[in-house]
Amino acid sequence: MIIDAHLHITEDDEKNKILDCIEKENILALVAGTNPEDCHRIHKMAQRCNRIIPTYGLHPWYADKASLKDMEPYLASCPVIGEIGLDSVWCDVDLNVQRKIFVAQLDLAEKRGCPVILHTKGQEKEIALIIADYTVPVIVHWYSSENFLDKYLERVCYFTVGPDVHINPAVQQVVREVPLDRLFVESDGISAVEWATGKAITPQELPSILSASMDFIAKAKNVDPGIVRTQMEENLARLLKSSDPGFVLNL
Ligand SMILES: [Zn+2]
Repeated sequence: MIIDAHLHITEDDEKNKILDCIEKENILALVAGTNPEDCHRIHKMAQRCNRIIPTYGLHPWYADKASLKDMEPYLASCPVIGEIGLDSVWCDVDLNVQRKIFVAQLDLAEKRGCPVILHTKGQEKEIALIIADYTVPVIVHWYSSENFLDKYLERVCYFTVGPDVHINPAVQQVVREVPLDRLFVESDGISAVEWATGKAITPQELPSILSASMDFIAKAKNVDPGIVRTQMEENLARLLKSSDPGFVLNL
């Protein structure tokens, strides 16, 4: 099994048969729904494909475009909340609005005992300070800052390694500094891989992209690639077991 610990699936990806690929290649995918409409579509998709674990959260880019009320049914039932967080680089949504939405979702996750997936772009220090007040496990998605990593390592933090690990020193630093029992790989979806690598890809290339990231980690940690794969399965099983309601991962 290959775990893609964070991705987005668009309607175009569905047309390009990404779900067939996920099933055929035995990928287990944590698919993010980022706003109410997106969550509705991902919810239906997860009912059709049992290789999808839905994760729901009002993404910072939509913090001023949708209400948490409309997200409620999704936030109340998913095994992982996210991606949620702050972004001062790729969107111009007022940071005060973003923070309000982010903290409200963190409060809910804490109440539910539910792990969260974090989006930290440009707000790495701020988010490290905010999450210090919470106890739920966090998955930091595609951490790409060369600073403040130590602040995250002071608490239980998992990290998803992005597909630019071969070229991005900040992502390579995550691989070096974070223990294997806290690491995952992610694609973030087809368009994110295209953005990171500068070339067009098809959904059918997803397994090889994830495998290449795992191979990089294996080399850096000086272990067999099979160990990395198994460890990521164990990491996910441990993480989901801690969720309420508990989510049993059948490996
Ligand atoms: Zn994402």
